[in-house]
Amino acid sequence: MAPPRPLSAGAQRYLPCLADLERYSGRVVGLPLRPYQLEAGRAIVAAALGRAPRDLIVVIMARQAGKNELSAQLEAYLLALHCRRGGTIVKCAPTFHPQLYTSMQRLSDRGNNALTTVRGRLGFVLEVGRARVQFLSAAPGAQVVGATASIALEVDEAQDCDEEKLTRDFYPMLAATNAPRVYYGTAWAETDPLQRAKQTARALERRDGVRRGPRALARRAAELLPEGRAAAWNQAMMELGATVCRPRRPACDVCPVRPGCGGPDALPAAAVRPGARQRFEATDRWARGRLLAALVAGDAPPELAAERRERALAGLERDGLVLRGPGGEPRLP
Ligand code: SF4
Repeated sequence: MAPPRPLSAGAQRYLPCLADLERYSGRVVGLPLRPYQLEAGRAIVAAALGRAPRDLIVVIMARQAGKNELSAQLEAYLLALHCRRGGTIVKCAPTFHPQLYTSMQRLSDRGNNALTTVRGRLGFVLEVGRARVQFLSAAPGAQVVGATASIALEVDEAQDCDEEKLTRDFYPMLAATNAPRVYYGTAWAETDPLQRAKQTARALERRDGVRRGPRALARRAAELLPEGRAAAWNQAMMELGATVCRPRRPACDVCPVRPGCGGPDALPAAAVRPGARQRFEATDRWARGRLLAALVAGDAPPELAAERRERALAGLERDGLVLRGPGGEPRLP
């Protein structure tokens, strides 16, 4: 097992990014996750760190919506967070070649960054310091070596996995750890109307900013969806949101749905005109990052007003990133 290497001075300045998946994704990996990826990613991080129920999380995304990118960046992020204390993510998929092999390549790309170096071992393990991901095939005849999933068990392309294999060989890996199971899959229009409605919700909310309850959503979706072509519509909406109707710079002049849209001015003001921006150094997120970086590096904590320091520490404790001693002094878990 490789001990964690001291961070270079250049890498130290990226440590605050470990306080937040969005900052890690944008500044360390350099490939910012989209809002819907971050929403799922934050739920998985919360469960893996034990600050949310550590049971089952299902991530359903259309093809090309970035499920594999999310998974790779999450693995790199969780490995970085666990590189000193150690831990294991087990990832399985219906086949080793090409699915897990592709996952390994992607994690290797994303995890070799300004903060961490990924090392391969045995052809199916990738490590950062004392933390690792084991990639194991869930094909019915695959020989699965004994493993313990202490951070998470990821099941990729879960809709194609053999349930009996998962139950017999993979779920016992969680028996001693109670780590979360994370299923990644793709919704198919013919088989999963509930998931179509959920995806539709996201697209509709991005268009007019109105949050809807499940029933209102299902009614509105039934009005809007072309019968029998929900999957194609869903994919088109995802692509539209990612490439044309972007939250900050909607490209209305080339938008194919311009005739039926009131344009960005029809959106609620908050959705297109966020208020004046606060300096980042004045935010609690900055304070959290500096405090965490100091703890990881063993440096003196930054000077902060007592109230702000307490707010930042309380947030880090709530997120499972620090523990507090009897006198309130912070330490790493
Ligand atoms: S016209 Fe503009 S605001 Fe309307 S959907 Fe297209 S890009 Fe978005």
